[in-house]
Amino acid sequence: MIVAMQERATEEQIDAVIDAMVEAGVNVHRTTGATQSILAGVGPTASIDLAKFELFAGVLYVHRITAPYKLAGRAFRPEGTVVEFPNGVKVGGEHIAVMAGPCAIENREQIFAIAKCVKAAGGGFLRGGAFKPRSSPYAFQGLGIPGLKLMHEAAQEHGLLTVTEVMEIAQIESMLPYTDLFQVGARNMQNFNLLRELGLARKPVLLKRGISATLEELLLSAEYIMAGGNYDIILCERGIRTYETSTRNTMDISAIPVLHKLSHLPVVADPSHGTGRRDMVPPMAKATVAAGADGILVEIHPNADKAASDAAQTLYLDQFEKLVGELRVIAGAVGRTL
Ligand code: PEP
Ligand code: MN
Repeated sequence: MIVAMQERATEEQIDAVIDAMVEAGVNVHRTTGATQSILAGVGPTASIDLAKFELFAGVLYVHRITAPYKLAGRAFRPEGTVVEFPNGVKVGGEHIAVMAGPCAIENREQIFAIAKCVKAAGGGFLRGGAFKPRSSPYAFQGLGIPGLKLMHEAAQEHGLLTVTEVMEIAQIESMLPYTDLFQVGARNMQNFNLLRELGLARKPVLLKRGISATLEELLLSAEYIMAGGNYDIILCERGIRTYETSTRNTMDISAIPVLHKLSHLPVVADPSHGTGRRDMVPPMAKATVAAGADGILVEIHPNADKAASDAAQTLYLDQFEKLVGELRVIAGAVGRTL
């Protein structure tokens, strides 16, 4: 940490700050210039609330120079994390993962038709919500475990892995037999109790960025899971809420290279929630692969306009097949496979 003192800070004020830093367990190195003193602190700053130092008389600003997350930080595994699934499928590394499926599992016919299409396109993961976090309590809430069983059966038939959202701790146990990758949705990114429990679950987690979360907050949420011993985490950029109203969310493509710089965890992009519009999904999916995404997560449905949830952003199956073909070309251009 760096504490820059104001130009007219007195020796008493500087000493008071140094004392507080030492008391917090930090080693202090003072540099005194012609007009200003700078205090550099080395030690357990991750656990310190730096904001309290800004309240000291004579302090100009306080700056953190090491990340508050340790396990999720790039330095922990400079070579990058590859999340490996029991069937040998990997997320991270050279190959770009394709995860696709309906927003919500609706019925047998729907999920089996989609599974067939995902497999034919070369995808590895079948997605589908069984527990849906809907803004309105009157909207379709998902089929629950019976729906998840259907998706699991469809995935097994086609050699796919399943990814589905878990909304609360009580659901984890019953979801385990049918889930290969637990999705934590944007609304639950800071449900710290759920994150802690998933840290003990020993199943990979797809952690979506909250609608107004900073990347530091996203990585701190990953840290919650990792602190429990579960290092198999895939981050997901799914758009954030901004002043712009033309799209449902604003797809933050720059989050991808930033997260790769800050963290060793793979990053998947979800252009479906990122845009909220079917016509915008392919261009954004292509942009995210070009920007280095380790996978894409897209919503698809044989009868997209009639989807029980998120119809406007859902691709028809032929649109999805065309998109994967285009993504393959882009993947090759950036030295990846798909
Ligand atoms: C979803 O994937 O269907 C979903 C609800 O995502 P998010 O949490 O990103 O809104
Ligand atoms: Mn959705």
